[in-house]
Amino acid sequence: MEDRWEILEQECSHCRECALCQTRKNVVFGVGNPQAEIMLVGEGPGANEDEQGIPFVGKAGQFLDDMLAIIGLDRTLVYIANIVKCRPPGNRDPLNVEQDACIGYLRRQIALIQPKILVSLGRIAAMRLIDPKFRITREHGVWFDVDGMRMMALYHPSALLRDPGKRPETFDDLKSLQKEVGRVCTHTELKKLW
Ligand code: SF4
Repeated sequence: MEDRWEILEQECSHCRECALCQTRKNVVFGVGNPQAEIMLVGEGPGANEDEQGIPFVGKAGQFLDDMLAIIGLDRTLVYIANIVKCRPPGNRDPLNVEQDACIGYLRRQIALIQPKILVSLGRIAAMRLIDPKFRITREHGVWFDVDGMRMMALYHPSALLRDPGKRPETFDDLKSLQKEVGRVCTHTELKKLW
C-alpha cells in the first residue's frame, strides 16, 4: 500500500519501539518542506528539541540556520530530520539498537520526499547513511552516490559551536553544497542559488 505522510507522522508520534520512548517529552518527527529536493539529517534530538518537538532548535539550530543562510537556503527549502526521533538521555550518541529501531521512519520519510541531495549532519548520521566506516574529519564535504541520491556530510552544528577552528572547512563544504544544488536541483527557488 502506498505510504502517506500523515499516517507516517501519526505512527511515529505514538512509537514505543525502543527504550527512548520512556524518557522523551516529545517525538521529534521532522520539520521543513515535504517536497524539498534537499534533506538534512542529524543524529537525534537534544534537550531543546525534546521540549519543543522540533529538530535543531536552540543554539545549534540557530547555527544551522546561519549555515543555510550563507548559501541562500532556509527551512522552507529543505527538510530536516534525525536518525532517532526521541532524545537519548544526557545527549549521548544513539545506540545501534535505538538507531535500528527508528531508522525505518527516516527511510519512509526519504521515500516520500525523494530528495536529490541528502546531507548528513555529523558523524553518526554519516555512518548510518553513507558508510559505517565514515570518518567525519577526513570525509566531510566529499560527495557520494547512495541509493540514487547525492550525499555528503557536514560537521554537526554543535561540533562547530564547540570548535570554531572547523568553520573555514565547513564554509568550503557549504559552497560545494551550493554548487551541487545548482547542478542537480530543479525547483525554481533553488536554481537561483547557483
Ligand atoms: S527513538 Fe524512534 S524507535 Fe525509539 S521510541 Fe522514538 S520513534 Fe520509536
